Amino acid sequence: MKRKHFLRLMVVTAGGLVLAGCGGGDEVTEDAMSEQATAAASPEDDLSAEEIAGLMYMREEEKLAHDVYVALHGLWGAQVFANIAESETEHTEAVRRLIEAHGLEDPAAGNPPGVFENTDLQAMYDKLVAMGRVSLNDALAVGCLIEEKDIQDINDKKAEVLDEPDIVQVYDHLLCGSRNHLRAFNSNLLNQGVTYVPQVLTQAEWDAIAYSAEETCGG
Ligand code: ZN
Ligand code: ZN
Repeated sequence: MKRKHFLRLMVVTAGGLVLAGCGGGDEVTEDAMSEQATAAASPEDDLSAEEIAGLMYMREEEKLAHDVYVALHGLWGAQVFANIAESETEHTEAVRRLIEAHGLEDPAAGNPPGVFENTDLQAMYDKLVAMGRVSLNDALAVGCLIEEKDIQDINDKKAEVLDEPDIVQVYDHLLCGSRNHLRAFNSNLLNQGVTYVPQVLTQAEWDAIAYSAEETCGG
């Protein structure tokens, strides 16, 4: 909840600046005016504030999944982390392409692995890598946690999309991949004799995904 409010606040603030620029009030300084004009020039007006915030968040959350799995692969060498990290590269790139297609600025541009603009995601990255450092089973549980949170977040963002078929298509693709990732981490844990207890989804939601067949998600 806190994260959502934070993002909304940021977007509302940005919108307020643009409005101030359009008003052309004398009290606005020249420098501020030109900055606002630049911000207003991008063709982002076709998306709502929620849709934009959703894309910004998902771009970085998919990057977080990738970066955590790369770190955990480095720690434990389990192939599942390398395979799924590759899929997360494709996911975060798909969101980046949406961001660019809508004339928005990529929040992850130039950021190395483990670095995020969103402070909640930065804290989450640090915490998850620390958790995954404890043991291979903890690392696999981190994978389960990332995937169930990802599924919940994508569903939340998708529910806020009004009429943007390109965004819905990408979110559906991400959801399909996340379900497969969840299944993979869950079966790796089961092979270790560990039954994961969901932290984000309900047990019923978890069971419906974890114990159903792998899906073909397409390109
Ligand atoms: Zn993903
Ligand atoms: Zn995933």
